[in-house]
Amino acid sequence: MTGMRATIDFIQQKFDEFNRQIFNGVLPAIPIKLSNAKTFQGQLAFKIRRLKNGGVERYDYTLRVSTRYDLPLAEVEDTIIHEMIHYYIFFKQLPDDSVHGSIFRSMMNDINNRHGRHITISHKSTPEQREAAVDPRPRLHVVALLTMADGREGVKVLPRVRQKVAAYRDGVLASNEVKSVEFYLCDDPFFNRYPVSAALRLHFLPRATALRHLATARPLSDF
Ligand SMILES: [Zn+2]
Repeated sequence: MTGMRATIDFIQQKFDEFNRQIFNGVLPAIPIKLSNAKTFQGQLAFKIRRLKNGGVERYDYTLRVSTRYDLPLAEVEDTIIHEMIHYYIFFKQLPDDSVHGSIFRSMMNDINNRHGRHITISHKSTPEQREAAVDPRPRLHVVALLTMADGREGVKVLPRVRQKVAAYRDGVLASNEVKSVEFYLCDDPFFNRYPVSAALRLHFLPRATALRHLATARPLSDF
């Protein structure tokens, strides 16, 4: 899987962008550090002190993002937003019932719905762990294979619903960023790792890699 390794500038820019778009700009800037961690993609580090009234206060926040692995852009963004949800809950001192408790999940689901994200609570998973967790059973999917105007290539796994595939095709072709798109009906378990939705997004993947897993797939054109 190809993708990107985040830089401090990139994370800073995304933090500011998501702060405006998603968190009403209320989050104060925090230091950003890159990490080589295997065990997490993102982490909100902080110090904690006990208050005289018996409560606790968190302070000295740092956002750490692991650059150990190449990850798709959307996954790096989702990781940053995941940590920003933690930051928001602490900053607003919202009384969540666990680390990824009901407040966290409700914010996460709301952001996923409203902003077309795929944030999960399992932010500690590494590519190896996720690889091991991929469902190995053959499942029949519609796979879109895309080439962007800037030369990047990617895939999107779509529901097997004619209208949704057609809507996705029309949507991406209306975008100046997409040069071409092809569709395949495919049961290679490789594609089980991607979320199935008709959202107008893609996962960056070299075309050659995708085609290896589409060797026995049936091209779709009549819809
Ligand atoms: Zn978390």
